[in-house]
Amino acid sequence: MLPVPVLKQAQEDLLNYKGTGMSVMEMSHRSPEFEPIIADAEASLRRLMQIPDNYKVLFLQGGASTQFAMIPLNLLSERRCADYIVSGQFSKKAYQEAKKYGDIAVAASSAGGNFTAVPEVSRNDIRPDADYVHMCFNNTIYGTKFYYIPETGNIPLVADMSSCICSEPVDVSKFGVIYAGAQKNIAPAGVTIVIIRDDLLGHAREDAPAMLNYQLMADNGSMYNTPPCWCIYMAKLVFEWLESIGGLEEIKRRNEHKASLLYDYLDSQSYYIAPVEKKSRSMMNVVFVTGNAELDAKFAKEAGAAGLKNIKGHRSVGGMRASIYNAMPVEGVEALIAFMKNFAEENPKTEG
Ligand SMILES: *Cc1c(COP(=O)(O)O)cnc(C)c1O
Repeated sequence: MLPVPVLKQAQEDLLNYKGTGMSVMEMSHRSPEFEPIIADAEASLRRLMQIPDNYKVLFLQGGASTQFAMIPLNLLSERRCADYIVSGQFSKKAYQEAKKYGDIAVAASSAGGNFTAVPEVSRNDIRPDADYVHMCFNNTIYGTKFYYIPETGNIPLVADMSSCICSEPVDVSKFGVIYAGAQKNIAPAGVTIVIIRDDLLGHAREDAPAMLNYQLMADNGSMYNTPPCWCIYMAKLVFEWLESIGGLEEIKRRNEHKASLLYDYLDSQSYYIAPVEKKSRSMMNVVFVTGNAELDAKFAKEAGAAGLKNIKGHRSVGGMRASIYNAMPVEGVEALIAFMKNFAEENPKTEG
């Protein structure tokens, strides 16, 4: 979802952006009209996340999935050795992609427990000569989240924050790289945010494609080629909306409230099962099942018809997943809980 005030602003600007007589969709990225848009988007994100000065903010393309390759292409040294924490589908994909480029090991995995918790990782799990450690902070599909930041010492920690960026404050200085596809919490699909510490630039492999070279992108202010202007404009509006409501502390308060309404309800009854271990519960993606595949399918269908969209779990795990990103109002969560109560009453489980 996108915040309604953001969509309204976009609508207002759609045909004639600030008297320019054109839409942001029609603008040249080199125009004097667009330059402040990307600059303001970056400035707003820097204020929101309190990004230190020794980090670059890049607006790239190719989604988070392109980062799965870009990270090893840019961060592996001659040793070509990196460690991955596997906590779900996306971190597994990141691991598999990196394996094409070096000696990549799994530092810790929660696959054994069907990813219903995040793994515990300690310094001993990480090879001392690893070039970096990769993790996925919020596991979108399994509905888990890291409740701690793994301790990696001097080894840069790289985090995929696609589904939790800007949902609460984070200490950026604990990470070497933070990246996120925009489409979960920031903007329509098409832009990928990369926050990278300066010393990690300039180490790309010789044969890395130009478009996958962080240094080149940073040197060109994310405009080595045509950037996704419209998505960057939408991201700017979302960042400014977040600032206007009180920043990441306030959105965290709202997100915690929404998530606790849903988890409290799940914990108070026995019709639905929440498979995720309590301490690993995601604030953004709440996963639950009825324990009966037919009832799950019926639930998703009827919920969709009642206006509760995209509630079906990922095709790989089934069940239900309520994605309650920043822009989801508390009323959306309340409507879901009311629907769940009603559905449970109308569809009693038969014994056996
Ligand atoms: C959605 C998602 C991805 C994939 O993002 P794309 O932009 O589609 O490549 C990767 N990681 C996480 C954590 C996600 O939620």
